[in-house]
Order: sequence, then structure tokens, then C-alpha cells
Amino acid sequence: MIVFNSLKFFRLLKADILLALILMLTPMDSGLLWLVNFDERLGADYAPQNLAHINGYRIRSETKEAYERMLKDMEKVGISVNLQSAYRPYKYQQALLSRKISNLQALGYSKSEAQLLATKTVAPPGASEHQLGLAIDISVDGKLDASFGNTEAGTWIANNCHHYGFIVRYPKDKTKITKIMYEPWHLRYVGLPHSAYMYEKNMCLEEYIIHVQEAKLLMIWIDDGNYYKVSYSAKAPDAAEALDMSSFERGGAYIITEIGEYLK
Ligand SMILES: [Zn+2]
Repeated sequence: MIVFNSLKFFRLLKADILLALILMLTPMDSGLLWLVNFDERLGADYAPQNLAHINGYRIRSETKEAYERMLKDMEKVGISVNLQSAYRPYKYQQALLSRKISNLQALGYSKSEAQLLATKTVAPPGASEHQLGLAIDISVDGKLDASFGNTEAGTWIANNCHHYGFIVRYPKDKTKITKIMYEPWHLRYVGLPHSAYMYEKNMCLEEYIIHVQEAKLLMIWIDDGNYYKVSYSAKAPDAAEALDMSSFERGGAYIITEIGEYLK
């Protein structure tokens, strides 16, 4: 639940002083909000560090932890899903696309037709979020298609994954912006409070980044007992100010997230 309330903000000033004392941490770009798409591509040499292992796949550790927590809660309501994909290196994505193009050519498409058609369903290398180690594909029966969105698991995920820091990255009503077809099975970990805000405001990642930039400061209260201040800066912020910052256009701009507890 997100509440915007200026009265609360003033009550929080005392907490802010405490916050400033606590946040004597060296800020590090978490990379959680990195935008990766057809226009914002990762280099062939980018690979996340310290990947954790899960069911034969590799994944960033915060994504694994959030996924496992979500899985447990799904089990409690009798829903089970399988992991179908997680971290995919640049070269693997390249191979996926080449295979798709060959398959289409085998079906009778010309090389240029096949290349165009293939990128509708398989992102070119560098344009896939799977290279970040923050994206997962899940299914109930091994199939990754739009029908997943109508299953009990797909519905649960669409309505609840934001509590765990995930977003359905390619929603049905955002295909014009994401340039990717509806993929109810593909989740991207962005962390809280971003996932909760995007869910509540029905924004995809592209829209959220522009929104933060335009709003300059968002105050977000969520039901994990914390409030967050999300702001935007064109240059690296002062070390004492940022608990978490995420860049987009690598090295370009920063989204800064600060956290504090509610004053009860
Ligand atoms: Zn995916």
C-alpha cells in the first residue's frame, strides 16, 4: 500500500537525522534498475559478479532470495511453478537468436525475413535482461506462452510479485513501449519500493525511470514498515546520502533510494 502524505513527511524529519547517521556507507550502484532493451544494450563483456546457483541456473543472489520467498508463499496457497531460465550470458543469447533464425529459414523464410521475425520473440544479444542475472522465466508446465497469464499461478504472480521486488516486465498493455510482446512468465527483479510503486501506478520500467526523473523526489510508503525516498540525480550523489543507487545508461544518471523506518 502506497500513501503520499505530507504530514507524515514532517513527522519523519527526526528519523531523517538518524538516517543520515546510519548511512555512512559507501554507495554502490546496485544495478537493480538498469534498463536493458533494444535501445539500451549491454556490452558483450558485461556479466554480473558472484552469481548464485538455483535449480541448475545462475542468478543474482538478491533475485534468488526474493524468488525463494515468493515460492514459499505460493506453496502456502497450493501453487507451484518451475524456473525455466535465469542468467543468460551474451554468447548464449547470440546462440538462441541464431538458432531461431535458422529454424525460421528452414520453414521457408528468407534470411532477412527470418532475422526480422526472430527478434520479435528472441532479444538480440545485449538487449536481453537475462544478461543482468535479474530476470527469471517461470512456468507451470514447461511452456512459455501467453496462456500462462490465465493460469492460477500467472494470476497470482501478476497480482503479488511486486511484494517481493519483482515486476512482470512485459505487460500486455505496454508492448508499444517495451517493444516486446506480452510475456506473463518473465519477471524482472527491481527490488522494493520500485516494484510496489510500478504495480500501483501501472508503469513499466521505461516509464518509471522517466517518472522518477520528472518527479525529482518520490515519497513511497509500503507495508514492509519502511518509507522510501526515491530521487534522481544526473551525477553521482554524495556518499552519505545514498543507501542504494541504480543507474541507467550505464554511468549516466542515478536513481537514489533512501530508506527509513516509520515513526509509530
Ligand atoms: Zn525471459
